[in-house]
Amino acid sequence: MDWHVYRTKQLKARGSTDWDIRKATQRGDLNPLRPGWYAAAGADPTVVAAVRAGGVLSCVSALRMYGIWVAKNCCPGLHVRLSRHGETAGVRRCHPFGPVPPTDQPVDALPAAFACAYHCMSTEEWIAAVDSALNRRLVTVDELLAAWPHVPSEVRRALDRTNGRAESGTETFARLRLQSLGFRVHCQVYIPKVGRVDLVIGRLIIECDSEGYHSSPRQRRNDYRRDRWSQIGGWLVIRIDFVDVLNHWPEVLAEIRAITRVDRHRRRTRIAPR
Ligand SMILES: [Zn+2]
Repeated sequence: MDWHVYRTKQLKARGSTDWDIRKATQRGDLNPLRPGWYAAAGADPTVVAAVRAGGVLSCVSALRMYGIWVAKNCCPGLHVRLSRHGETAGVRRCHPFGPVPPTDQPVDALPAAFACAYHCMSTEEWIAAVDSALNRRLVTVDELLAAWPHVPSEVRRALDRTNGRAESGTETFARLRLQSLGFRVHCQVYIPKVGRVDLVIGRLIIECDSEGYHSSPRQRRNDYRRDRWSQIGGWLVIRIDFVDVLNHWPEVLAEIRAITRVDRHRRRTRIAPR
């Protein structure tokens, strides 16, 4: 990927001489960021700031740059993996687990960014970010493992809990919390006449809206249609969004417990011989 931020050796590999680089800098075509690093037109200000600070953009900031879902309130600040002589003023200094890869690209590749992010994010946030990367087919678990020479056992356990079928952070957070409480949660289940639904526990469907989701009239009509067919099929449906997961989880959980308790009771009653 071309971030429009280059090292001197990259510019020379493209045929530029020291004289060309000096002239381009004088013309303003190249903006010197620190010794050996230049920004060209189109460089992202976040990437420029990371390199100017003495490192490369990494961790949560790099994940966001790749379009991976990270909750808006998660891990503020500029996350930078500093080169050996980097300065630290005003940036969050991030370290990967395992061996430290070279800082030769302006934005860390996904394995290095995830290795750093494991220390800056909560496990829940990190799994949601990995889910998002898997879902967008930006990386696979095998590729991550192949890139990490040493994987701490807690990271391995977190990876085991990822699911690339998850379509939103809301869904990942809800799935992880419900699974940790012992619920048998099925993800992205196809139901005839309804379509794919996010989470299923018994006869309960949990539809998870992504952060900042605003449905169009057409989407809303489709949601209503899905809800009607779910009820015709004997399903119970609740809809939650990221604010519910983040700020109202005890209430949501109490509702899920109440519904699944009734659901279990109904199923037992239906099956019991008379
Ligand atoms: Zn970080």
